[in-house]
Amino acid sequence: MKGHPEAAARFVADQERAHWHDQALWWLRQRRDAAAAPVPDWEALREAAERIKAHTLSRLADYVEEFERRARAAGAQVWFARDAAEHNAIVHRILAERGVGKLVKSKSMLTEECHLNPYLEARGIEVTDTDLGERIVQLRREPPSHIVMPAIHLKKEEIGELFHDELGTDEGASDPTYLTRAARTHLRRRFLAAEAGLTGVNFAVAETGGVVVCTNEGNADMGTSLPPIHIACMGVEKLIPRRQDLAVFVRLLARSATGQPVTVYTSHFHGPRPGGELHIVVVDNGRSAQLADPTFRQALACIRCGACLNTCPVFRRSGGYSYNWTVPGPIGIVLAAGRDAARHRTLPLASSLCGSCTDVCPVRIDLHHQILARRQDLGRRRLLSFQKRAGMKVMGWVLRSAFLYRAAGWLMRRALPILPAALVYGRWNAWGRQRELPPMPRRSFGQLYARRRHGRP
Ligand code: SF4
Repeated sequence: MKGHPEAAARFVADQERAHWHDQALWWLRQRRDAAAAPVPDWEALREAAERIKAHTLSRLADYVEEFERRARAAGAQVWFARDAAEHNAIVHRILAERGVGKLVKSKSMLTEECHLNPYLEARGIEVTDTDLGERIVQLRREPPSHIVMPAIHLKKEEIGELFHDELGTDEGASDPTYLTRAARTHLRRRFLAAEAGLTGVNFAVAETGGVVVCTNEGNADMGTSLPPIHIACMGVEKLIPRRQDLAVFVRLLARSATGQPVTVYTSHFHGPRPGGELHIVVVDNGRSAQLADPTFRQALACIRCGACLNTCPVFRRSGGYSYNWTVPGPIGIVLAAGRDAARHRTLPLASSLCGSCTDVCPVRIDLHHQILARRQDLGRRRLLSFQKRAGMKVMGWVLRSAFLYRAAGWLMRRALPILPAALVYGRWNAWGRQRELPPMPRRSFGQLYARRRHGRP
C-alpha cells in the first residue's frame, strides 16, 4: 500500500485544488479564533474539558455501567460491541428482525470506521446519508475527506455535475442555493420513506442515560422523528459523567469546529419516543487497548471537532484522503498508528510538529507530542525505511558535534549547487525526492572554480 507522501503528491499535483483546500481550511481556523476570542473563560473551559475527560477515562467502566443502567431505565435498549464486525452485526440484526429495508443516517464517524454502509447494502438495506456533505460523498462512492466537512475537497461545479447525473438538476448549474434545495427535496423523500434512523452520538451522559447529537442541518432530528426506530451508535469514549458537563463541551465544540457560538441543533434523547424504539450501540473497537496505554490514552478525549485538521499545515496541503484512514489530520495520525503501526507507518511523519494542533484542541490533547511518540514507536519497531534510519543516524552524529554541524553547513552551501539534480532529487534520496529545494544556481565544478578564482563565493 502506498503511503502518505505518494497520496499527498497526487493531491498537490492539482495545484488549484490544493490551494483553495488550504485557504478554505485556514478560513475555518480563523473563524474558530474569532469565535473563541470573545469568550473570556476560553482557556478555563479547555482546562475544565480536559479534566472532565481525564476523570471520565480514569473511571470509564463505572460510567459505562451507570449509563447502561439509566438508559435501560429510560426505556432504551443498550448493546455492546467489541469490534466493528460485532457493531455491524448488531445494527443489521436490529434492522433485519424488524423487516427494515430503508435506513436514513445522520453523520457518524464511528459507522465510517466500522464500514457500516457497505455491510448493510450488501445485505439488501438501502442506506441514505442525510448530512449534505455525507450525501455528496456517498453519491460519489467516496469516504468523507474531513470529519466535520466531508466534501470540503470538492468544488461546487463538481457537485453540480454530480447532482445533474444523480438527482436530475439542470446541466451546468452550480449555484449552492439551487443545489441545496435540490438535495433537500431528494432527502425529504428518503426521510419520508425511511423505516429506521441511525445517528452518531456526540456525548452520552452517564447521570441521565441520555445521548446528545449535534447537527447544523437538523437531519438527525428528521431521521429520528419520522421513522419509529432510532439506533444511536457511539464509541465508548463519548461518555461524560454529568448533565452539567455538557455546558462545557457544547460551548467548545461548535466554536472549535466551525466558529459558530453554538451548533444549530443540539438534540437530547432520553429513552424512545412514545411507540418507538431507541437502541444504543456502545462500541469498543480498539478503544480499551488505547485506554490501557498511558502515553496515548489522552487521545480518547477527542470530541471530533476537526480544529486540529483545519490548522494543520500538512493536512491543509495534502487533503484528507492522503491519510488513508477514517479520521485524518493530527488526531488521525495518533489513532491510526495505534490501530496498525506497520500499515500506517508513514503517517507519524506527516506532521511538521509545529504544535498548532495542540494549541487549538478544545480538550487540550497534547497532539504533537503524541505524534512524536508515535514516531519514536516506529523507530523502536524498526518500521522506518532504510534511508530514513540511515539519515537519522547521520543527523544524530552531526547534531551531537559542533565541528560536524559547521562542516555540514559548509558542505551544504558549497556542494549542493554543484551536485547533479539527478542525485539531489534521485529515488535514493528520501528527503529530496519528496521536496522542492529552494531555488539555487546550479553550477559545474569548472564554473565554481572560476568564481573562486575571481574572489566570488
Ligand atoms: S484532537 Fe482535539 S482538535 Fe482534533 S478533532 Fe479531536 S478534539 Fe478536535
